[in-house]
Amino acid sequence: MARSLDSATREALAERMRFYRELGLTDFYRRPVDAIVDSAASIPQAEAADGQDAEDHATVPAETAQAARATEPQASFFGEEPTIKTRKGFHAPEMGAAVPVEERAAALEAIREDLGPCTRCALHKGRNTIVFGVGNAAARLMFVGEGPGADEDAQGLPFVGRAGQLLNNMIAAMGLKREECYIANVVKCRPPGNRTPEPDEANTCSPFLFRQIDVVRPQVLVALGATAATYLLGARQPLAALRGRIHAFRGASLIVTYHPAFLLRDPRQKKEAWADLQIAMKELGLRKAGNKE
Ligand code: URA
Repeated sequence: MARSLDSATREALAERMRFYRELGLTDFYRRPVDAIVDSAASIPQAEAADGQDAEDHATVPAETAQAARATEPQASFFGEEPTIKTRKGFHAPEMGAAVPVEERAAALEAIREDLGPCTRCALHKGRNTIVFGVGNAAARLMFVGEGPGADEDAQGLPFVGRAGQLLNNMIAAMGLKREECYIANVVKCRPPGNRTPEPDEANTCSPFLFRQIDVVRPQVLVALGATAATYLLGARQPLAALRGRIHAFRGASLIVTYHPAFLLRDPRQKKEAWADLQIAMKELGLRKAGNKE
């Protein structure tokens, strides 16, 4: 039976369809209602409960894969990255030991406690809230941005403003929910006027980010923009040279793409960003939207 949508849902749907069109995705089909009901029945309880608890409960296949990877030797990932020119003096901290899936949320909490009411760099002077990171502590997919903006500083959560709305759309286009991912930034305090973090600020804060990555152990890590790529990879290369390929990084496949704020300014680049996200999807074994096979 046809259902009518309320105006907020209709507007959200229209916005999502606009986004898909900008990506060049136009070929849609509707699954029969029965199939939707069937697939809803197979959603694990934690996800079905409105996503609220989802961050504490990775789905079984993800956990199994994560647990398997946690026992894999990680050393082989180092030395496989042939072409990145790194910044002078860049040394990624040694990778932390694997944390069992069920202990990851607590391990992230412990990092947050270590951070405390941080005053390690000048950014603390202008911040309202430390934006630590949010999401599934055992996520298969993690996003890293630059630093909180005004909305994030007010709410204490990453990517909740306009750029966050676009990131949510990007995640949905991948067939995932935001709560299934983990999202963090290079710096945890808002730089004044949303300027790019200074190297001393990013270098002071990024060890906490590296620790978060080592706890979550995502299969795929997406660096959103040049600042994230620079401070994760120690890259001394333009974004164009880093995009479109997989970088082996701390046991994850790291993919570099444009920052959503840049995409808001230049929507023509969304297709390029979508191509990057498709690399991520392939790594995660996710099917392309519109692909009926
Ligand atoms: N831009 C970022 O890089 N991070 C946020 O959390 C929000 C906007």
